[in-house]
Amino acid sequence: MSSPELEALLNVQGHDTRLDQLRHQLDTLAERTARDEVRALVAQVDVQIEATASQRDEIARRQNRIDDEVESLKAKRDGFDKKLYSGEVSNPRELQDLQEEIDSLGRRITKLEDDELEVMAEAEPVDERLLSLKDALAQRQQELASAENLLTAAEAEIAVQIDAESELRQACAEPVSAGVLDEYEKLRAGLGGVGVSKLIGTQCGGCHLTLSAMDVARIKKLPDGEFDHCEECGRILVP
Ligand SMILES: [Zn+2]
Repeated sequence: MSSPELEALLNVQGHDTRLDQLRHQLDTLAERTARDEVRALVAQVDVQIEATASQRDEIARRQNRIDDEVESLKAKRDGFDKKLYSGEVSNPRELQDLQEEIDSLGRRITKLEDDELEVMAEAEPVDERLLSLKDALAQRQQELASAENLLTAAEAEIAVQIDAESELRQACAEPVSAGVLDEYEKLRAGLGGVGVSKLIGTQCGGCHLTLSAMDVARIKKLPDGEFDHCEECGRILVP
């Protein structure tokens, strides 16, 4: 018969193995992968919106430049108009020059206003694209919110199991001395999470090495509180 301490240590191992599995599940949740995928799509649409918005800004700047130029030419033309009808100028040659100047300004203004219409036409599809991108973003953000909810729920479900398992592990560890637990933890860390194994027949349950009949007999006869390790894997062996 093995000691109650070693039996308890085997139970601790059982809970630790389960805890390792649960933590692995938590780290590799499909819900997290799904959330990350949607998050990447949101970022992608964000980038497209930014690029389209800056394209739209560039068009607006061009339109503003044309507007400003039109305003300044109109002001100039109004000035000439006033002068023409003010009666200040009576020289026919000068009056004719003024009229020509006014006509020339009018032609430049018309040309600029045509240019502006072209720029405005250029803005139309960009505005449409921006609207549809914003719709797409809203939809993606909704998807992201529900993906986040699913992930939170899945995480919470595992967290509950981890808490319960940790409590059980804690209770099982009570009869195990600090020194044995410490050794077990060190072995566990270097041996893929398994620091103690049961002797099954003549085999180490950890690495499946078959022990000699003499070793098996010796391990089985160890006094309470003493234990041996598997020669092959080094784990604590529990008869
Ligand atoms: Zn072994």
